[in-house]
Amino acid sequence: MKNERSIMLILLAAIFLYCCTGCSPKLDFVEKESFQMGTVITERVYGDNAENVAEQILNRMHGIEDNLSINVKTSSISKLNSSGTSIHSEEIINILETAKKFSDISNGAFDVTIGPLVKEWGVFTENPRIPAKQRIAELLKLVDYKSIVINKEEKTAKLTKDGQLIDLGGIAKGYAADEAVNICLQNGVKSAYINLGGNVSVVGTKPDGSPWRIGLQNPRGLEGEYIGILNIVNKTVVTSGDYERYFIKGGVRYHHIIDPKTGYPSKSDLISSTIVTDKSIEADALSTATFVLGLERSKKLLRSLKGVEAVFVTKDKKIYVTDNLKKYFTFMDESGEYTYVEKG
Ligand code: FAD
Ligand code: MG
Repeated sequence: MKNERSIMLILLAAIFLYCCTGCSPKLDFVEKESFQMGTVITERVYGDNAENVAEQILNRMHGIEDNLSINVKTSSISKLNSSGTSIHSEEIINILETAKKFSDISNGAFDVTIGPLVKEWGVFTENPRIPAKQRIAELLKLVDYKSIVINKEEKTAKLTKDGQLIDLGGIAKGYAADEAVNICLQNGVKSAYINLGGNVSVVGTKPDGSPWRIGLQNPRGLEGEYIGILNIVNKTVVTSGDYERYFIKGGVRYHHIIDPKTGYPSKSDLISSTIVTDKSIEADALSTATFVLGLERSKKLLRSLKGVEAVFVTKDKKIYVTDNLKKYFTFMDESGEYTYVEKG
């Protein structure tokens, strides 16, 4: 009898031990969250090397912020903005080239030389203000993406007008998301999700083979209240909206996306513009550009671009989805205030 009991005990101990080591469900993903570039960066990486890949991504995000942030005194962008001499940075040249391309095709609605006006409005600072008309008129003279001098061979860039400031706030999160995806692909990751404050990129499908489901924020709802879901695989979804960073004065909402033509927060008929495509740097620039252009001019612009789809939400709460995106979009408005315009 005594023998049976001791065998039983040894068996139980073995099972217990095994469960503490071998049988625990292998964590097949790593989720990390950090606060960088003024926003929360969430990443979920699947695979055996997930921890290492997720760490590499975080480090790359730090590096990008150090090099591209207008808020980091030692960044290359800050040097470019302060010195008036040229700076040498392949990363910045490539980003500026892309930025200029989207400035050209959006007729200047996207313009990274918007910096002086962003600074003057101070929308997301402790002291947001409405600048005086003639101050805006003065600063508007500095907004001119065509005046950025880029030397591709020497990989240098230079500003030509005193007081000009380049602000990559509208494109560099997209660039960072693409860098994160590249790190995943270089490490053989098959499934991952990266969200830089609403700038989302996904690698592959979810591990079970189903598409990633990305909620579209209700521009007038609470955080996490959606107006629809996008089902995506290997794509990026980037939204620009007037609800991200704004202040209200005299009942008027002043947001952070400035119309380079007027120097004021853009007053188009859109309250949010979501771009879905392959490259996040392009989606980021286009989400800002289309937000400024408004519905009709954005639809026209997108018809001229291959592989770029969108969801536009207008001030009168109508939702427009471009044709090739419709089958991946599920209308789901919890507030009951929005109309999904299926034809149009
Ligand atoms: P988007 O529509 O993508 O872009 C709007 C932003 O782009 C504006 O905030 C402005 O920066 C710029 N912009 C405005 N109008 C135009 C226009 N017509 N054309 C082109 N660009 C325009 N935020 C902080 O609060 N603190 C930080 O320290 C900070 N550091 C950052 C560092 C980096 C490298 C980056 C990329 C962003 C950082 N930010 C920081 C956030 C940044 O200031 C923007 O507010 C943010 O990127 C806006 O993203 P969005 O998707 O809401 O808007
Ligand atoms: Mg943008």
